[in-house]
Amino acid sequence: MDDIRGVYTVKNGYRRLGEIYAPCDPVWNNIWKLQVPPKWRIFLWRAITNVLPTITNLVNRRVEIPNVCPACGVLGEDVMHILCNCVYARRVWNISQLQIPNFGDHDFMQWVELWLGNSVTSAGFLKDQICGILYEIWRARNMAVWDLALPSPLHLCASFQRSWAAWSLSTAHGRTVGSPPVATMPHALSDLQALQLPHGTVLCSIDAGFYGAQHSPTFGFYIRSLDGVFVAAANGPLSCPYDPLLAEAMAIREALSWLQDHNYQNVLMLSDCAVLVASFRDASSYRSYLGIVLDSCLRLINSFSACSIKFVRRGTNMVAHALAKHVGAVQTRSVWREALPPFIPAGLS
Ligand SMILES: [Zn+2]
Repeated sequence: MDDIRGVYTVKNGYRRLGEIYAPCDPVWNNIWKLQVPPKWRIFLWRAITNVLPTITNLVNRRVEIPNVCPACGVLGEDVMHILCNCVYARRVWNISQLQIPNFGDHDFMQWVELWLGNSVTSAGFLKDQICGILYEIWRARNMAVWDLALPSPLHLCASFQRSWAAWSLSTAHGRTVGSPPVATMPHALSDLQALQLPHGTVLCSIDAGFYGAQHSPTFGFYIRSLDGVFVAAANGPLSCPYDPLLAEAMAIREALSWLQDHNYQNVLMLSDCAVLVASFRDASSYRSYLGIVLDSCLRLINSFSACSIKFVRRGTNMVAHALAKHVGAVQTRSVWREALPPFIPAGLS
């Protein structure tokens, strides 16, 4: 653990997941350069961090089900199997005629590094399309799980071609080559004036964390007026599995509920989780618990007169971060209305 107090934060969590899956900075950076629908990118990110609910991951979380791949019905299912090694996936890759690196004995991260890393050879791959096929394979796999109907590999490739054509068409106008996707554009707090927020808008910074060896999930949020006057701060436990993205979404939901209960009308939510901020755009396409949480956040967001969510740099989110990682957050929910709690170092806000 990176933190001397043994505190586990979401950001450290990413780092640690990165360590387990052999981090490769170019891959993390290049994911954001893919010119693909946000949901494809987020899917790839979840596949690499191994938080997809594959059967192996569910069994590891003590869900008692037989580990049998939903596509081939023969072998166990982990992320490398379902997306690459499964006979079903191999058929799809064949039909797609996309050039991809050999699967070899690689794990998924290593394989992704071969086409999305910064090596000379990876430059030659059609990264956007590979990402799309991976997304479609996972979608097909989910159809097998939820609807008990696995599309044929041919059907899958046709459906990929349609969504790829539609996406290329919709982005053909006004796209500058090499411009970073919106989600990676950090908004410094000083940029907020430019947003022309309604009078009386409150700013709410949110963070989630995982505490101690048990990885107990926690949230923290910190609300202040546009000119920096303290409004409220809170922290407390969350109820979710060890999934950084899900925890961050649940932390946002906690903050939104509180703001709604206390009749705030104009709010700006600030999160330093770029992946999550990007996920909101197509929350309804997630057929997962994350999708449900994002959906309930969106319902809350729509209940305000004005409410938006912005990505901020980590450095501007330190108070929420300190609230989420405080030991007290594990046991009970606390709210401060007079001033920030004494354990927040002066100068942090
Ligand atoms: Zn299989």
